[in-house]
Amino acid sequence: TRTFLVGGNWKMNGSVKSIESLTGALNASDIVEGTEVVIGAPAVYIPLLAEKLRKDWGVAGENCHDEDSGAYTGEISAEMLKDVGAKWVILGHSERRNIFGESDEFVAKKTKKALSVGLKVILCCGELLEEREAGATQQVVERQLKAVIDILPNEKDWENIVIAYEPVWAIGTGKVATPEQAQEVHKDIRAFLSRLISAGAAENTRIIYGGSVNEKNCAEIGRKPDVDGFLVGGASLKPSFADICNAMK
Ligand code: 13P
Repeated sequence: TRTFLVGGNWKMNGSVKSIESLTGALNASDIVEGTEVVIGAPAVYIPLLAEKLRKDWGVAGENCHDEDSGAYTGEISAEMLKDVGAKWVILGHSERRNIFGESDEFVAKKTKKALSVGLKVILCCGELLEEREAGATQQVVERQLKAVIDILPNEKDWENIVIAYEPVWAIGTGKVATPEQAQEVHKDIRAFLSRLISAGAAENTRIIYGGSVNEKNCAEIGRKPDVDGFLVGGASLKPSFADICNAMK
């Protein structure tokens, strides 16, 4: 059975002051047993978040580079994230792919590097609106995932990867996918993992949904059989993020 996982992705938001008040509220909230929670924060705040946040929750970077070190001005290595207290890293977010031009292959190399230093990975995939309208959703998601499977072909590699399906048209738009739309893509992703990796990888890999998830719509989406949690952007910046963590209560 797959442990339900709720991730927050703060994106480029937060301050020392807001982190102190938000962690105060989240640390005091009662969270249902058996849900894993991870918060992704801007790299500069990872040490502070790791210090302030309740120890039963994990901290994630929002990106990393695929090299160990070197002349990559402005970049941050997987090892550095780990060194300052991250246990996870979010990779291949649509904002990294679409605004910063990250290719499927680059995201795959980052994933391999992150796993190699002992970080767990939230690997994002998802289609643009025009791709959905063209009926290409599955093709796009499979292309994005296949680049990773090509260099991480073993079931063992996937024990530390969580897939986040985030349709780009649902991110930050308030236009959440219907529970049926999410379920359909998650089910297809699971079948794809079964074909390309193994039945075990398909059964055990968590596939979480992201895109305009909030405390009101989360429970209905979370009840779908192939939805194993959420990746939450805007709604993870507020104390009511705790209610989303309690979606399965
Ligand atoms: P929103 O929840 O703000 O739509 O963002 C989703 C997301 O991109 C999480 O990674």
